[in-house]
Amino acid sequence: MLNKRELERYNSQIIFKKFGKESQEKLKKAKALLVGVGGLGSVISTLLVRAGIGELKIVDRDVVELSNLQRQILYDETDIGKSKAKLAKEKLRKVNKNVKIKAFKDEITKDNVLKYARNVDIILDGTDNMKARFALNHASVKLKIPFVHAGCEGFSGVCAVFVPKKACFACLYKECEVKKPISVLGPTPVLAGSMSSGYAIQMLSSTMKLKTSFMTVFSLIDNEFDTYIIKKDTKCAECGK
Ligand SMILES: [Zn+2]
Repeated sequence: MLNKRELERYNSQIIFKKFGKESQEKLKKAKALLVGVGGLGSVISTLLVRAGIGELKIVDRDVVELSNLQRQILYDETDIGKSKAKLAKEKLRKVNKNVKIKAFKDEITKDNVLKYARNVDIILDGTDNMKARFALNHASVKLKIPFVHAGCEGFSGVCAVFVPKKACFACLYKECEVKKPISVLGPTPVLAGSMSSGYAIQMLSSTMKLKTSFMTVFSLIDNEFDTYIIKKDTKCAECGK
């Protein structure tokens, strides 16, 4: 049940007819795993915590660097050299103490991903590498939990939602390494991260029921937004039979 302070805190979303009190209560019971609290994860974590998710589990191996501040909106100059997972937890606690936040300084792999993904309702991608994304997809398929992937380069970005038993991340992408450094301007991860959290909030609160996996690709430089249905690959290495 939502208490008086929570009803006040979330009033703007509760009065939205398609969301309402029931959705807010469902969101309060929901748990998410977010891997990566950089450019994408700063936005995803902030919006989920502000919206009133029940529990957020954060995993990130990195420390804050000066070159991160251009887009990673959770951090400031005093954070340089410190663990992102630990800092994110501290900062997000100050935003909303109703949310249970767990933070782990770790690198996600296929060997440890199930440990982190067990008992969550959704898996969110805030990473910048394919290896971690394939590990998250592995957990999503194995545990039948939705997986929301986001990525960006320059002024272009993607947000893809993979629904259990439908097409998975590995149906769409094949294993490869992303060349670094990745060029990126601040608004791109903010938009892709905002879309991720938007879909997550809707799925966790049952405001949106998805029947298929899909992706939205955008380019801010060409002013293009396109959404595609993702088809299952029957020969997929992860979910194919
Ligand atoms: Zn697949």
